[in-house]
Amino acid sequence: KKYIVVTGGVLSGIGKGIVSASIGRVLKDCGIKVNSLKIDPYLNVDAGTMNPNQHGEVFVTDDGYEADLDLGHYERFLGIDMKRFNNITAGQIFKSIIEKEREGKYLGATVQMVPHVTEEIKNRIKSIDTDLLMIEIGGTVGDIEGEIFLEAVRELSLEEGIENFFFVHVTFVPYLSVTNEFKTKPTQQSVQLLRKIGIHPNMLIIRTEKAIDSSSLDKISLFAGVNRKYVINLPDADNVYEVPEKLYNLGIQKIIAENLNLEIQNKLNWEY
Ligand code: ADP
Repeated sequence: KKYIVVTGGVLSGIGKGIVSASIGRVLKDCGIKVNSLKIDPYLNVDAGTMNPNQHGEVFVTDDGYEADLDLGHYERFLGIDMKRFNNITAGQIFKSIIEKEREGKYLGATVQMVPHVTEEIKNRIKSIDTDLLMIEIGGTVGDIEGEIFLEAVRELSLEEGIENFFFVHVTFVPYLSVTNEFKTKPTQQSVQLLRKIGIHPNMLIIRTEKAIDSSSLDKISLFAGVNRKYVINLPDADNVYEVPEKLYNLGIQKIIAENLNLEIQNKLNWEY
């Protein structure tokens, strides 16, 4: 099984969900069996009790689970019905750990974040049966809540083989109109944060309002230590349904196929 892990830096709401659903869509159209997993580091067990004014609408899956609206993106982009197992929250993980502890399942062990919580997360990830799993880690790198999930994914990449993992980090590069320049520092710092946790991103997707100049991308590539070919700019699209085609035209499927050793064919169809 292959995994693509999508993390976010700098700000939330920069389009991580759209990027992961779009990469999934492109690869699905290249003939690969894709499924997705959205990890929400919040402590709610599901999105059913969350204020829609703050968090957006609740998306109800086929099997009656109340999920984050992102699962709707995945369902529409990937064209597959989302189920309960397509979403993990920290609330679910901790609930299950505490229930097991009360049932005496840990046989006297001291229950800890590592290895017990990470094991629980890794088992949930591994249980999804597909050829390629898109894992989106909600929030921003550096958030306390997200740390344990990043650690679990890092461990999993070592256990399952790093050659089966492709890490995509989505960041935002602001443009300062007064000085007429793109500012890359927050991106450099968010990559450093990720590397500190032991994850070296394979690809950076640079979200901007307008197209960025290539010298800024050169700079990001150098300071972040990511191959220049794998630093991709994705300016705001007029319509999010254009994003898969844009990523395809940038050749993302070839880069991923090369890195994950996948065989791809084109059955392109940009209808939803
Ligand atoms: P995140 O997962 O980072 O919180 P989302 O993927 O949910 O962010 O995106 C938040 C919103 O931003 C989306 O609902 C969409 O309206 C908008 N958006 C995301 N990506 C793009 C893009 N490439 N171009 C234009 N708008 C986008």
